[in-house]
Amino acid sequence: MSAAPVAAAGEPTVPAVRERLGRWLAEHSAELAPFTELPTDVDGVFASLSRLQRLLYEAGWIRLGWPAELGGLGGPMILRGVVSEELAAAGYPPPFSFGTQEVLGPAIARFASPELAASALPRLLSGDETWCQGFSEPGAGSDLGSLRMRAVDEGDHWRVDGEKIWTSWAQYSDRCVLLTRTAPQEAAHRGITALFVDMDSPGITVSPLVTMTGEADFCSLFFDGVRVPKDRLIGKVDGGWAVAMFILGCERGVAAWQRQAWMRWRLAGLVNEADALDGARAGEAFELVHALRLLSRRTLRSLSDGEDLGVRPSFDKLLMSTAEKYIFDAALEAMPETLLFGGPGPARDWRNDYLYSRASSIYGGAAEIQRNIIAERVLGLPRE
Ligand SMILES: Cc1cc2nc3c(=O)[nH]c(=O)nc-3n(C[C@H](O)[C@H](O)[C@H](O)COP(=O)(O)OP(=O)(O)OC[C@H]3O[C@@H](n4cnc5c(N)ncnc54)[C@H](O)[C@@H]3O)c2cc1C
Repeated sequence: MSAAPVAAAGEPTVPAVRERLGRWLAEHSAELAPFTELPTDVDGVFASLSRLQRLLYEAGWIRLGWPAELGGLGGPMILRGVVSEELAAAGYPPPFSFGTQEVLGPAIARFASPELAASALPRLLSGDETWCQGFSEPGAGSDLGSLRMRAVDEGDHWRVDGEKIWTSWAQYSDRCVLLTRTAPQEAAHRGITALFVDMDSPGITVSPLVTMTGEADFCSLFFDGVRVPKDRLIGKVDGGWAVAMFILGCERGVAAWQRQAWMRWRLAGLVNEADALDGARAGEAFELVHALRLLSRRTLRSLSDGEDLGVRPSFDKLLMSTAEKYIFDAALEAMPETLLFGGPGPARDWRNDYLYSRASSIYGGAAEIQRNIIAERVLGLPRE
C-alpha cells in the first residue's frame, strides 16, 4: 500500500486531511474491503484490526496530530478526531489501538519522563505494541480511590502484588498502565502511584473473562511479586490520582467522539436495514447522536487547545451511553428476530453491538457516577 501525501507541504489542516483521507480511502477501497467484515472471534478481530492499524500507520494517517518526538507527523490534535470520523463514515471499524491511543497515549505523553514517552508512544501508534488499563479491582470500581494493589519500594524497583479485574484486551497487551497503592490504605486517592508495566514480567497471570457476547473481552490480572523498574513511574510517587483522572477525562471525552462517529454509521445502517423502525424512534436516535457530536466536538477542540476539561467529559460520557443504548434498543424493537435468533454476519453484529451497548453505562465510570459528579461539582448539590 503506497504512502499517502499526509505530510504534504505546510501544516496539515482539517479540510485538507478530510479531503486527502477521503481520496486515499476511495483509492484503496479494494485493499481495505476485508476490514468492513470482521471475523467472528475475538482473536480474529484483534488480528484484523491490528492489520488495519498497521496499514493506516504506514500510510501516515495514525501519526497525524501527534508530535514528531513521539513518533507522529505533527499538526493539531483535532486531526486525530478527523481521522477517526472519516474512517467511521466510510464504514471501517476503529483500528485496534485507536481507543488506547486516545485514552492512555496522552497520559504517557504528559506524565511519563520524556525518555519513556519517546520510547513507548511510537510503538503504540505503529501497533507494534498493545496497552491495557489496569485500574479496577474487585471492590474498587466506582470507588477507585480504595484500590489495594500494593507497590513496595525495594530500592531500584517496585515490588507489586495484588489483583485487577475487567482489564480490557489484557490477553493481547504488551504493557499496562497500572494504578498501585504506595501509601497506607487510609491515604485513599492520595496514596496511589501509576506505573508502566511490561505484561511479560515474571509473576503476572492473565486470566480472560468471557462476557455475555460469548467472547473474552476483558481479563483478571494477578500480580505476585512483580518487579517494576523505577524508571517506569508515570507522574509522581503518590501522585497517581492526577494521572488516573486525566486518563478518565480522555476516556470519557475522546472515546465519546470516536463512538459518535461509529454510532452515526450504525444508525444509518439501522434506518436502511430495519423496515419496521419507528420514524419517531429514528428521529430521536438521530437527535441524541447529533447532540453528542456537538458536545463532543467542543470537548475535542478544548483538548486540542490544551484546555483543562474539568468535569465536562462526564456530560459526554453520560450522553454517549444514553445514545448508544437508545440506538440498540430501537434496533431490538425493530428487528427482534434478527437480534435474538439471526445467524452469523450482520445479525450477529447487531446482537453483539446490542449486548455491548449495555456496558456503555458502566465502563469508564458508571452513569450513576457521572450523574454524581455533575450533581456535586456542577450543580453544587450536597453529597448526601
Ligand atoms: C466492557 C467493560 C470494559 C472495562 N474495561 C476496563 C479496563 O480496561 N480497565 C479497568 O480498569 N476497568 C475496566 N472496566 C471496569 C469499569 O471501570 C468498572 O466496571 C466501573 O468503574 C464500575 O465499577 P464496578 O464494576 O466495580 O461496579 P461498582 O462500583 O460496584 O458499582 C455497581 C453499581 O453501583 C453504582 N454505584 C456505585 N457507587 C455509587 C455511588 N456512589 N452513587 C450511586 N451509584 C453508585 C454503580 O453506578 C453501579 O451501577 C470495564 C468495564 C466494562 C463493563
